[in-house]
Amino acid sequence: MSPLAALATADIAGCRDDFPALHQTINGQALVFLDSAASSQQPFAVIDAVSRYQREDHANVHRGVHTLSHRATELYEGARDKLRDFINAPSRREVILTSGTTESINLVAQSYCRPSLQPGDQVLITWLEHHSNIVPWQLVCEQTGAELLVAPINDRGEIELDELQALMTERVKLLAVGHVSNALGTVNPVVDIIARAKALGITVLVDGAQGVPHMNVDVQALGCDFYAFSGHKMFGPTGTGVLWGREELLENMPPYKGGGDMILEVSFEKTVFNELPYKFEAGTPNIAGTIGLGAAVDYLQSVGMQNIEEHEKALHRYMVDQLESVEGLRLVGTARKQAGVQSFLLNDIHPHDLGTILDHQGVAVRTGHHCAMPVMQRFGLPGTTRASLALYNNTNDIDRLIAALDKAREVFA
Ligand code: PMP
Repeated sequence: MSPLAALATADIAGCRDDFPALHQTINGQALVFLDSAASSQQPFAVIDAVSRYQREDHANVHRGVHTLSHRATELYEGARDKLRDFINAPSRREVILTSGTTESINLVAQSYCRPSLQPGDQVLITWLEHHSNIVPWQLVCEQTGAELLVAPINDRGEIELDELQALMTERVKLLAVGHVSNALGTVNPVVDIIARAKALGITVLVDGAQGVPHMNVDVQALGCDFYAFSGHKMFGPTGTGVLWGREELLENMPPYKGGGDMILEVSFEKTVFNELPYKFEAGTPNIAGTIGLGAAVDYLQSVGMQNIEEHEKALHRYMVDQLESVEGLRLVGTARKQAGVQSFLLNDIHPHDLGTILDHQGVAVRTGHHCAMPVMQRFGLPGTTRASLALYNNTNDIDRLIAALDKAREVFA
């Protein structure tokens, strides 16, 4: 399909009406929402699933014998099954429900790495990572005496594969890499990276926070050991997410948190932990949010990940072409493969000032360091302005962005 034909795909064009938050005015102008990489809007299907549960089915899960508890458990565990299918995990035992990517990564750092890392061992990450995929590794390295290595990126914002490979030695016990950079939109060649690491026996975690909303993810085809993602970036509620991990690894990891639901038997002498995945899910979970996340998976699958990927690719191309025509605009992040994220600078206008002027015109973008300060340091910048796309954006949104940027140039002339 040609890029412009993809933009005209009827399925995708109609999706906009599924998102009530998009249909409002901000500062007297129709909202243009270009901040989905921070958190995406939710369709009626998700809002209704959460609301129906709250109105009709609310009860605690797993423990009750009464009807409401059964219903809540079925809906909650049903969401786990949908998520398993969504990422093609071999087993529901491998799908740990968490509060999001951040918790998923911390779980691996504390439960997989902390018991096994020794002084002299290394954890390898890249310069492209979000703080969530940096700080948990710094903490566990401090706790164990291991060393954190960082693979460089080039001026386009791409990982330098040869240099990454050179850092992969037998001392590296875990490699943690993002699927897609939230700051620059770079789509990392994770299949290749994972294959290189696995050939050397290195365990690999992929931070998929910016991967799952935009492309088909099959954890078996990827070949990684852990894959982490958040519900609120894929049209689900905040405070939900997943850690997928290989069963043989999860089985040997100690629990991350203690409490109810993660046990089979407790006495003061000895506690027997529950089986997977419950061993890692202490306490009452985010039941409503996870049910909403299940509805988000249904929604994404009904639109089709392939359609979404093609639409966003074409729209990103259109956005870059239009941005390049704006006088004084500099793109930050020009990787050969990018998802629907674009960072940029306009003349010497501070990104926060630019973001405010755009908001006055109803255009919502992100400004600042995007929780990726090392990326900003790499480019010698305090921050950027970032426009990020989702399946509900269209060329009109981009045209409005460009018009708002032109206005900002006049204001700061
Ligand atoms: N990794 C990446 C690449 C992200 O974009 C984000 C969110 N901006 C996170 C991790 C953290 O996700 P959360 O805050 O939902 O835990």
